[in-house]
Amino acid sequence: MGMKESPEFRIVGDDTPENKAALVADLNAAFHENTMFGIKPDIQEKIRDQEIEKSELALEVIDYVNKKVDELMMDLGLEAVEFPAENIHILPAQLYSEINGPSSSGQAKQENQAVFVNSDFLRRSPTSGAATMYHEVLHLNGHFAGEMNKDTPHTTFYRKGLVIYPLQAKREQRINTQLEKPWTLFWGLNEAIIQRATRKFNLEILDDIEFEGETKWMKSPEYIEERVKIAEHLGIDPSEIDWISEDRKNYTLDSYPEYRKVYSYVLEEIAKRFPDEYKDTDTVDKEFLKATFTGHMVKIGRLVEKTFGPGSFRTLGNMHSQKPDEPFSAQETMEELKEMRTTFIQHTQK
Ligand SMILES: [Zn+2]
Repeated sequence: MGMKESPEFRIVGDDTPENKAALVADLNAAFHENTMFGIKPDIQEKIRDQEIEKSELALEVIDYVNKKVDELMMDLGLEAVEFPAENIHILPAQLYSEINGPSSSGQAKQENQAVFVNSDFLRRSPTSGAATMYHEVLHLNGHFAGEMNKDTPHTTFYRKGLVIYPLQAKREQRINTQLEKPWTLFWGLNEAIIQRATRKFNLEILDDIEFEGETKWMKSPEYIEERVKIAEHLGIDPSEIDWISEDRKNYTLDSYPEYRKVYSYVLEEIAKRFPDEYKDTDTVDKEFLKATFTGHMVKIGRLVEKTFGPGSFRTLGNMHSQKPDEPFSAQETMEELKEMRTTFIQHTQK
């Protein structure tokens, strides 16, 4: 496998080359030696104390996750890094939420070169737990850049995957008054892209790894029937149901549905606009995936603007919430893009 030895870290800003190199060295040590760089000492201690030891099966799953990430990136003509199993920390739910806030299943922290997984979720469904790891390891293969300046004490994020953070010098003017935080761009789109890939992984792992007591159930006709029933009840597509417990009392839904709806729409319209270059939405999706890993956004920006018209890439980048009543929601973004597309088609047909 043509895997990279280390992730690439880019540092912008006017700090000295020595200071920037020192940060890169710390990040490299975090990746290679699991130093937990950037994590407060007391939290590090708690992690070392309470982290759940990985079973042979868990290690097999992490191997599989790395293999699948490598396959995906090779298909894009890129090299993945093999993310070390030691840097994936399976934590008791309480410690997990202390670090990451409540109720999520996993978090990738590029600034620490670590992934945190909530053991409650993993215990509930190993299949979904594996998908969480895949999602997070994809994030960790994403483009990553920080910003360091001579006269400011803190290093800040500059890029994470497609996500663009405001420059330090502009942070004050770039407070989004509606969201009451500095503007970040492409957050919603970035998650939609990563989760779209994770859905494919979800299907593949069912055929490749057998989880005792779960895989058989998830492949049974009864499961598929139950999924259709719940989906009908909720008015959603059955594929949006991620997992159902065997006693049928619990189920989980797939992440970021609203962002993915917008992303699917964007892919469909681009495929229609450029049928010679892109035979289907999957081939357009590859351009977006590639951009999250390389950080090069010019191509996808052009595709969007040549399909939806000027300003549309910015509209897509602003998408920031899945709740319809919040500013920059996926629902609002969808409406705006549809209007832009209609206007654009009218203009080009004149
Ligand atoms: Zn994510």
